[in-house]
Amino acid sequence: MTDEKRSSTPDANKKVGIYLCYCGGNISDHVDVEAVRERVASLPGVAVARTNMFMCSDPGQELIMEDLKSGTVDRVVVASCAPSLHEATFRSAIERAGENPFIYEHANIREQVSWVHHGDLATEKATRLVAAAAAKAQQLKPLQPIQVNATQHATVIGGGVAGLRTAIDIAQRGFPVSLIERSPFLGGQVSRLDRIAPTQEKATDLLDALVGQVLAHPSITVLTCAQVDGFGGYIGNFRLSVRQTPPTDAETIERLKRIDDEKIDTTRTIPFIGMLPASPPAKPSTISLETGMIVLATGFTPYTPRHGEYGFGESPHVITLPQLIEKMADQPAGRNCLEIDGRRIRSMVMIHCVGSRQIPGIHPEDESGHLNEYCSRTCCTATLATANRIRETCPGTQVFDMYRDIRTYGRGQEAVYEAAARSGVVFARFEADDAPAVNRNDATGDYPLTVSVTDGLTFGETIGVPADLVVLATGMEPPV
Ligand SMILES: Cc1cc2nc3c(=O)[nH]c(=O)nc-3n(C[C@H](O)[C@H](O)[C@H](O)COP(=O)(O)OP(=O)(O)OC[C@H]3O[C@@H](n4cnc5c(N)ncnc54)[C@H](O)[C@@H]3O)c2cc1C
Ligand code: SF4
Repeated sequence: MTDEKRSSTPDANKKVGIYLCYCGGNISDHVDVEAVRERVASLPGVAVARTNMFMCSDPGQELIMEDLKSGTVDRVVVASCAPSLHEATFRSAIERAGENPFIYEHANIREQVSWVHHGDLATEKATRLVAAAAAKAQQLKPLQPIQVNATQHATVIGGGVAGLRTAIDIAQRGFPVSLIERSPFLGGQVSRLDRIAPTQEKATDLLDALVGQVLAHPSITVLTCAQVDGFGGYIGNFRLSVRQTPPTDAETIERLKRIDDEKIDTTRTIPFIGMLPASPPAKPSTISLETGMIVLATGFTPYTPRHGEYGFGESPHVITLPQLIEKMADQPAGRNCLEIDGRRIRSMVMIHCVGSRQIPGIHPEDESGHLNEYCSRTCCTATLATANRIRETCPGTQVFDMYRDIRTYGRGQEAVYEAAARSGVVFARFEADDAPAVNRNDATGDYPLTVSVTDGLTFGETIGVPADLVVLATGMEPPV
């Protein structure tokens, strides 16, 4: 027998006690708790299986303690609510019975079963979870907590707003911090914005303040053009190898050249580029770091629509929200209509959930067979805030907003939605499997595009919206 097989075999010498909770009906309304008890009671290594209305109550805990004290059981499984609620309760009961608290295994049959499944399948899943916990319990060994001295140093990976803020917070608590950013610039995706919703603060002001604090703090070391290329150690004591290399991608080289050629002030955040805290290295080098804690703040990359997705790449009149934000930033004041690339935008359609909330069978997968099934959580507010700005500054531009759901997460963001409704943005709601169709008009037409949508807000009426510009509210993807 291999070691692997031996370690997963139930230990006939162990006496596992299984304690199943009804949770006052929260569990037992959907899981046949008595049936689970009967099924697991005869599993190898199980000494007793008991049920209780509230296992976390004093009488429930007493059941466990009595079985431990009498020697009936020497391993404990409680099947109840999420471990975050009561794992500590049951470990403490075991300690009070004079036993080691690590002879305990938890099965969550409430949040993971009765709250999400019903009928026979719920009982079946609960049985399997409890059986797995009982098998694992037989492998548990009494443990003693140990203390490890941690290296008094933190590493933050990613120089966007999250990484900058984290570096400041840790340094203010008295710990040295290394901030590792792979590009030459600090600020991350916020440096690609103009104004920040919901406060309307200028992105450059926000970043000037944050980066200013980072650069001025004596305990923070900033490493740009840097990436971790080696990792070792363990909790509290990690070793990192950090490689700094001259930039190689064309966009970054172009930006650096522009800064040089135009002698742009690098003591402040450069709009749509970020803050350049130091010249990029002329040649590669490697730095070794001993660190006690690593924070990953590597952020996201905006989703790039597929060629032809809502006409993207096929029509110059279809752009993404980040592109619109950058193009709007040089908008001369006092225009009745928004002007993009020298064209008056009389009518603009914004389409939500592009590259987010993708559904198997409805949306095509990418080349690696992947779908972005999550909500990106920032694009609704960013779209509505941009629509509001256009309606405030260019009232001659009509804005149509086509959404699946409006999800304005976060404090103050619902107000952005309300303001859009008041400012005359026209909303249409579409189903995921019946997305708007962007059609190109022939050159003689008054508008280059027509967007048709079947609108759930007008009882399924199909409408065609003439548009000078279509803007895609693209979501987030993990950075590559
Ligand atoms: C179009 C649009 C509009 C938005 N508008 C708003 C708004 O109005 N208000 C608002 O609050 N939010 C807005 N957001 C959201 C906001 O941009 C994000 O919440 C914010 O950028 C997240 O910051 P971050 O530091 O987590 O990530 P990022 O900004 O993505 O920064 C991550 C940093 O990590 C670096 N990095 C990545 N990988 C590595 C690596 N391996 N090693 C080292 N460094 C690495 C990157 O280069 C980058 O500098 C908007 C987003 C979009 C797309
Ligand atoms: S935030 Fe809005 S637009 Fe973005 S993915 Fe979620 S629902 Fe869609």
